[in-house]
Amino acid sequence: MTEQGKTRLTTNVSEGSLVPSGRTDAYLGIDIGSISTKGVIIDADRRIIARTYLWTEGNPADAARRVVADLGSQVDRDAVRVRAVGTTGSARRLVGAMCGATVVKNEITAHAVGTTFLHPDVRTILEIGGQDSKIICVENGIAVDYAMNTLCAAGTGAFLSSQAHRLGVEVEEFGDIALTSKKPANIAARCTVFAESEVISQLSMETNKCDIINGIHHSVANRVAGLAHRVGVRDQVVMTGGVAQNIGIVNALQEQLGHTIHTSPLTQYNGALGAALFAYQKYLKEQKG
Ligand code: ADP
Repeated sequence: MTEQGKTRLTTNVSEGSLVPSGRTDAYLGIDIGSISTKGVIIDADRRIIARTYLWTEGNPADAARRVVADLGSQVDRDAVRVRAVGTTGSARRLVGAMCGATVVKNEITAHAVGTTFLHPDVRTILEIGGQDSKIICVENGIAVDYAMNTLCAAGTGAFLSSQAHRLGVEVEEFGDIALTSKKPANIAARCTVFAESEVISQLSMETNKCDIINGIHHSVANRVAGLAHRVGVRDQVVMTGGVAQNIGIVNALQEQLGHTIHTSPLTQYNGALGAALFAYQKYLKEQKG
């Protein structure tokens, strides 16, 4: 990792110099998803001192090892002592056992806690991940209701990634390309099979790539908006998960829901942050008790 990367990664929620210079207690959170694995280390002031996001590549155990190695490279190993570990995500139990985690939490609880920590006024969390999408209603930092789509790939990051591959662009570029479109191509939202065949047919009609990409974003947003309306959307709305990094989806969802959507480069770590905060709380409780 470059020095520049190191500076960026250690700049965080709170201001100031965050690489610990003394003997500092720290808490590790890992969120192991089917597509990506995220990790954060927080210090005793609950500031993020290291964070990393990488692809799971079908091997959660190896992804967790790579995350821990990368986090370790961002901090002074002699100064930082990890006191407790929390895990979340689909492989949370496996990785929890590997790391000796003291807390293993489901994604909904971990995202609610991590998101509320960064956005105390959040009432609705939209989480579009690799293989599912979720809408979580939050009150006072606690998830009180949710709706989840796991059966259909139409409203997921994996669908966006597969279409990016088909169109020969990186998924990371998808959002910016969509911004250059004047009119989204018509792509169905109900099912990936229909959506894919419409992408192919739009390509054969030589529709502009940016309009097809914009149409794909509207299709995914449409699917997620349908899910969101089932539980109701209340301000403030925060979007998390890897797809929150895609400005095209954020814009299309804002349009369809009629609510401002808050997001930031940190929101993709919200599950890992929630897991780290749980580990921290549990550690403190054990020390007192
Ligand atoms: P998981 O469900 O495994 O936790 P994520 O929540 O990280 O995975 O979602 C993964 C998806 O996020 C990818 O399939 C991709 O569509 C999207 N994604 C991740 N990073 C970016 C990025 N920088 N720009 C646009 N899309 C992204």
